[in-house]
Amino acid sequence: MVDVKLRGIAEGRLGTGSMCYDLANGNTVADVVKHVALQDEGLTRTLINKEDPCLNCAFPDLPASRKGPVPVWGPATGIAGVMGANEVLKILLGKGELARGYLMSCSNFQNDYYRLPIPKDPHCPSCGAGK
Ligand SMILES: [Zn+2]
Repeated sequence: MVDVKLRGIAEGRLGTGSMCYDLANGNTVADVVKHVALQDEGLTRTLINKEDPCLNCAFPDLPASRKGPVPVWGPATGIAGVMGANEVLKILLGKGELARGYLMSCSNFQNDYYRLPIPKDPHCPSCGAGK
């Protein structure tokens, strides 16, 4: 049996990463696929276990919650959703490469797909020794 948590909203984004690691420490693992749209970009990444860097590793100064609206290019939401669904299918079928250790991004204004590496912070307060 495979549990996959598909997360598509920014609110509480740091808490979801912590929950995944708490579950992993208790020998119950829920794979987490996060996909969001921000301005013209669709973004996704996947966490399988506590060896994967969390969002705090990538953006240590990111606030726990965002206040106010975020501008989003409409098609970016659809692309982000498809990227997230693609990750879930790969997990369920055991096929392909997962977006682990990096943020997969599509810049819709530039027609550019790229990977933003996320180094694991060993002192991270969410997933590292700082927890
Ligand atoms: Zn971390």
